[in-house]
Amino acid sequence: MKELRACRKCGRVTTELKCPDPQCGGETTLEWDGYIYIIRPELSSLAKKIGKTTEGEYAIKTR
Ligand SMILES: [Zn+2]
Repeated sequence: MKELRACRKCGRVTTELKCPDPQCGGETTLEWDGYIYIIRPELSSLAKKIGKTTEGEYAIKTR
């Protein structure tokens, strides 16, 4: 199994070295904490709180 990485800029979780979000394209890191899966950002107060507007997997915190 590949190790999961998280984007330093937007927090999106991926196995790639670069963020899969073409509008972000940030570098990813193995050093991250917390995990959230946002399914319907328009209905999620948590998504609003952490500033996410697209569906996907995110890290709460990256180092
Ligand atoms: Zn990103």
